Amino acid sequence: MLLRNYKITKVRRSLCHPEWIAVRAELSNDISEVFPYLNAILKNAVYTPRVPSLNFKMETGFTSLMPQGIDVGQVLYKEDAIKILDYLRELINDTWERRESITPLYERKGEIKAKDIVDFLPKTNCRECGLPTCFAFAVAMMRGQKRLKDCSALSKPEFAEDKEALVRLLGTVASEDVAE
Ligand code: SF4
Repeated sequence: MLLRNYKITKVRRSLCHPEWIAVRAELSNDISEVFPYLNAILKNAVYTPRVPSLNFKMETGFTSLMPQGIDVGQVLYKEDAIKILDYLRELINDTWERRESITPLYERKGEIKAKDIVDFLPKTNCRECGLPTCFAFAVAMMRGQKRLKDCSALSKPEFAEDKEALVRLLGTVASEDVAE
């Protein structure tokens, strides 16, 4: 068993969608060794080996795996997050047990898309970055025309975890932001 347990350490409400919450859980063990195996079997996984982190979208919302933490976003109730965390623990342990039958994938497959970035932006469309929407900002980031620091809203404490998640997600394509 790779992951014995988790503990929810933070629950915060989304500012743009107050009906949603995001949950952070601390893990009892380092799970980074399973990332290349999950990367191989999860169709929509975005693996950033350098960080390392593995992001993917579930039916409910985005999920971000870190070596000793998991962020679950866009859920309505804490109980929903617990169900997802239980599912992820099972997925991690099952994948780890089956690792000899899985060819691990140590590189990111495909490119990050604007919609992967927009999940972690404030989504307030405040225009402070000079663009009309957060989606337009995500597209501009993909084109190298904007950097994380150009979204002033991300510097607010309430978006600190989203910014962290973006830095993890963009680890290989926005090194200048990672260094901030
Ligand atoms: S500054 Fe940030 S929150 Fe505001 S529109 Fe631009 S990307 Fe969205």
